[in-house]
Amino acid sequence: MMNLIETVKDAGIVGAGGAGFPTHVKISAKAQVFIINAAECEPLIETDKYLMRTFPNEILEAAQIVAEHLGAEHKVIALKSKYQKEIQALQKAINETSSSFKLVMMNSFYPAGDEQTLVQLVTGRSVPERGLPLDVGAVVSNVGTMLNVYQALKGNPVTDKYLSVVGEVAQPIMLHVPLGTTLQECINQAGPTLAEYDIIVGGPMMGKVYRGNNIQGLTVTKTTGNILVLPKNHYLVKCAELPLPSIIAQTKSACVQCKMCTDMCPRYLIGHKIRPNMVMRNMYREKLIVDDSEYEVAFGDAANCCDCGVCEMFACPMGLSPRKVNSYVKGQLAGRGLKPASNKAPVALEELLYRRIPTERLVARLDLMNYFNAHADDCVSIEPECVSILMKQHIGVSGDVCVTVGDKVQKGDLMVKAKEGALSANVHASIKGRITSVDGERIVINKEKE
Ligand code: SF4
Ligand code: SF4
Repeated sequence: MMNLIETVKDAGIVGAGGAGFPTHVKISAKAQVFIINAAECEPLIETDKYLMRTFPNEILEAAQIVAEHLGAEHKVIALKSKYQKEIQALQKAINETSSSFKLVMMNSFYPAGDEQTLVQLVTGRSVPERGLPLDVGAVVSNVGTMLNVYQALKGNPVTDKYLSVVGEVAQPIMLHVPLGTTLQECINQAGPTLAEYDIIVGGPMMGKVYRGNNIQGLTVTKTTGNILVLPKNHYLVKCAELPLPSIIAQTKSACVQCKMCTDMCPRYLIGHKIRPNMVMRNMYREKLIVDDSEYEVAFGDAANCCDCGVCEMFACPMGLSPRKVNSYVKGQLAGRGLKPASNKAPVALEELLYRRIPTERLVARLDLMNYFNAHADDCVSIEPECVSILMKQHIGVSGDVCVTVGDKVQKGDLMVKAKEGALSANVHASIKGRITSVDGERIVINKEKE
């Protein structure tokens, strides 16, 4: 059998549940612990649950092969104890195959599926600041990624994606679509209940908001796991649209230094040096600091922010946005060429255990309770006439295009080849047809009449 890393690389597999880290790089290591992340971190998303119910044997088979490749002694699937159907499906598959994977159940809290939170929960070890799970002997991978590994072992590259469409739709649904399908087609399939709406691609906490005409032109990528359809001007949309100058002005005038943002911060709780309240406090003099080392002392904590949104969407009683201020400050640190030192051996705080945010309370705070108990059971396949495929759907650099306009392609043909020696990933044709456009960002394939 072909080397596993080569197989995964050839198939163009990137993390299906997050930012799209190329999987062949992630598994090019030895690890003591292999964790399958099945926590479905953000509220309302249905995709991983559907995959666990529908493909438990396939996920487990691929996970076993990857675990052996990593040399992992401990093999874990971590999921929420409320996922009863998924637990039954996985446990049945484990029993039938005498697998050495163990299920680790956890309460429903946010951000349970954050890689570093998950590693701390499973191993008791905190990942170093700005480090990787591998720094403490762990590799974490998502259930969707394992399904892609299973397909790759059968000779099938990543050409399709499972995703849920939830929120203001007739019924939340699962979709199975070729990469490059427009999000509008996905939304139409779910039947939006409002004539006008905005959407979040991803989850309500870390997903990206799109409005009106900006929805046109968006297409499904290897990391698109969910579309949340919202009424126009929903609270989450308004939060996302507040301009930075207003955010900074509010910070200077309204932060009462209650420290709730720090006390609830998941990174602070696993022992990282991050105190968003201090960043907020120092904003009043941010423009006055000329000396770089002084700037680093005042604002260096922001470098450890993971963008989870707990501070602004849950913790702050004043409705302020430490996350966005951190994001701004990170840009300033980079602009000044400052790289704050990283604590390589953080130790989690005892308070961690009782400062986890129950998912239901978070959903209520986000004004999403209308959608909380609606689940997607059925999966529908879409077969679009045309797909528009992004050349880069992962963290790292784009590969080299190896097709041109007019080429005929079969589903699964290589179109973009990963750059050697770089963090890069292959991209394949997701439908059979003719290439009608290659513009430096996207490749368009049109189906041809037989
Ligand atoms: S977004 Fe806020 S809560 Fe999350 S890591 Fe950053 S500072 Fe902490
Ligand atoms: S929670 Fe809000 S008000 Fe309190 S310290 Fe943080 S930013 Fe300031």
